[in-house]
Amino acid sequence: MNYNSTRNKAAVVSASQAIAQGISEEGGLFVPQSLPSYSMDDLKAMAGMDYRGRAKKIMGDFLSDFTAEEISESVDAAYTAEKFGSDDPAPISYIESAQQKMALLELWHGPTCAFKDMALQILPHLLTKSVHKACDGKEAVILVATSGDTGKAALEGFKDVAGTKIMVFYPVDGVSPMQKRQMATQKGNNVRVAAIRGNFDDAQTGVKKIFTDAAIKSKLASQNMLFSSANSINWGRLLPQIVYYFSAYCEMVKEGKLQMGEKINVVVPTGNFGNILAAFYGMKMGLPVHKFICASNSNNVLTDFIRTGTYDRKRHFYTTISPSMDILVSSNLERLLYHLTDGNDEKVSGWMKQLSETGSYTVDESVLALLKEWFWGGCCDDEQTKATIADLYENENYLSDTHTAVAVNVYRQYAASTGDNTPAVIASTASPYKFAQSVLSALTEQDLPDDEFAMVDALSAKTGTPVPAPLAALKEAEERFSFTCGVEEMPQAVLSGLGVE
Ligand SMILES: *Cc1c(COP(=O)(O)O)cnc(C)c1O
Repeated sequence: MNYNSTRNKAAVVSASQAIAQGISEEGGLFVPQSLPSYSMDDLKAMAGMDYRGRAKKIMGDFLSDFTAEEISESVDAAYTAEKFGSDDPAPISYIESAQQKMALLELWHGPTCAFKDMALQILPHLLTKSVHKACDGKEAVILVATSGDTGKAALEGFKDVAGTKIMVFYPVDGVSPMQKRQMATQKGNNVRVAAIRGNFDDAQTGVKKIFTDAAIKSKLASQNMLFSSANSINWGRLLPQIVYYFSAYCEMVKEGKLQMGEKINVVVPTGNFGNILAAFYGMKMGLPVHKFICASNSNNVLTDFIRTGTYDRKRHFYTTISPSMDILVSSNLERLLYHLTDGNDEKVSGWMKQLSETGSYTVDESVLALLKEWFWGGCCDDEQTKATIADLYENENYLSDTHTAVAVNVYRQYAASTGDNTPAVIASTASPYKFAQSVLSALTEQDLPDDEFAMVDALSAKTGTPVPAPLAALKEAEERFSFTCGVEEMPQAVLSGLGVE
């Protein structure tokens, strides 16, 4: 199976090239030229496997220039009970009533307590193998722009992986104190972390510019290094996310929550559009899905897009209590547009050009119709998010983080406005302890302690739930990175970080 760019169909690469390169030369994203298609029998066979078995099957169908051993090695190294707390890295909690069946797919049992671990624990294995195949064993330099969770998950995934170096940029005021502490204390000999004065979009734009800067690239090449990306634009990030939707479906069938073949709705708290896009790929491959519900916080650019067909980033940027969704340019949407236009690279390039030059674009009526057929968009603000956290805790005995609460809130809006009670799989994307301050303030009127770790302890005391071990360990960890720079200084920070001048 080969891949081509969303902006140039003639730019065709193998799986390992797509993963090693991260992004296409002209700025487009790599998409598979065809998709595997699974029948009910295939799904039944998958139901008989464990998570790792399902991952090997699905990823093997996409990574056609990897050997079965290479895929096995990667999967077995990534999804261990040691890293994810059990042999099922993505367990499900059910909240059910006569009107609404919610299956919360908990994607945050990995080492950094957020869903990015699902992809970033395996990406370094796929990437080093890809670089070995496609680029004669050059050293891979990973640049990451993060709104919080990606950065830490990437650092954990790549730390001390031979043949790689990683540098992470985060917006100085755009991540939670816990996220900042997680990154500032990162261990490993091949890691660097820098805060930038700007928001996430500034960080992402800065990283994209460095990626496509010919002068910087040639400096790296002279040192036998090349850039690669661990951001959710990398196909190696997206692919592992397809697995958990199939796996959740299989588990629900096994547990008698679904009949084989019965449709589900998929609800995703969305930022860069990677997680929900993985579910959309699942549907194209045979996963029975009725509707994708795209949940946003006050940065509701996607809600408006799904309702009107106009994507307009020229709007106020809100810093919310669900910071991993504080995004105005959802990069992976480009892949959806490519598929909804039947692979019209010219159209997609045109819209992306308009977006970068004017800040907005409007899709054709036919694309809007398809978008509405498959997607429903909704949003809620911080007050509504907190009210949902309180309601879930008090009435359902479920402790939810802020991002997951946005998804539940929007799902309930959807169910109320449409009357559709198809069983819903809701992506639960972070441990509540990662956002302890916001979660605690949703649950109590009392004054909060001012230290982040005291809040974590208070949340545990209040709810009788345990603090995840990786977060508990941060209290004693030594701070290693405190560097802050302007967006324009990012290229220099990268070069000096690598010792390349
Ligand atoms: C990254 C992230 C999201 C958004 O996921 P996308 O794939 O970027 O849409 C939602 N919740 C949490 C906790 C995240 O870390």
